[in-house]
Amino acid sequence: MSETVIELPSAAPAFAHPREIPADDWNRYRGNVAEILAAFGLPLDTAGTRETPERFLRALYDATGGYDGDPKLVTTFPTESDAGGEAFAQVVEGPIAFAALCEHHALPFFGHAHVGYIAGERIIGISKLTRLVRLFARRFTVQERLGEQIADTLVDLVDPLGVAVRLEASHLCTQMRGVEERSRTTTTAWRGAYRDAELRREFLELTR
Ligand SMILES: [Zn+2]
Repeated sequence: MSETVIELPSAAPAFAHPREIPADDWNRYRGNVAEILAAFGLPLDTAGTRETPERFLRALYDATGGYDGDPKLVTTFPTESDAGGEAFAQVVEGPIAFAALCEHHALPFFGHAHVGYIAGERIIGISKLTRLVRLFARRFTVQERLGEQIADTLVDLVDPLGVAVRLEASHLCTQMRGVEERSRTTTTAWRGAYRDAELRREFLELTR
């Protein structure tokens, strides 16, 4: 199976766009974080907490690494010719664990993604589907948009006959405060052949 890097003029910025934070800015952010944490009750003068502002900033930066892009994502393969026998054969991958930050509260929502597609001329490696989910999950986002972005980008990558994405997540912004809900939120995104109710039902059964 030969590996091919395909050209993606429109989607290219999503795949490699590293952030650059000047050291002076980073140091100022660390000071701001320290001020907020201390004001809210965290003593910053202990061995365990002295580096907490730096660690928090670093963790937040890593958790939003999706903005840096993922150049390793842009690799697809031709569909093997003998795999074309069955019409509308689904490739379904999951559960793919993800953690994202809700853009309303900058607090995590996390859960599992299932991604399905019906291959046309090209397929994408299973590990690339994980990369695809994380490219958009490691950002400030909302669950609905996350599913739409995964679906649209998979369409751009392999031009499949259909794409299905199902996300199930717990949102800390509702669970940590006030209502203390323990519920999980499920969203779906459909493209192409998955407009067919029978295919949607099959996908949902496979991912339940
Ligand atoms: Zn929220």
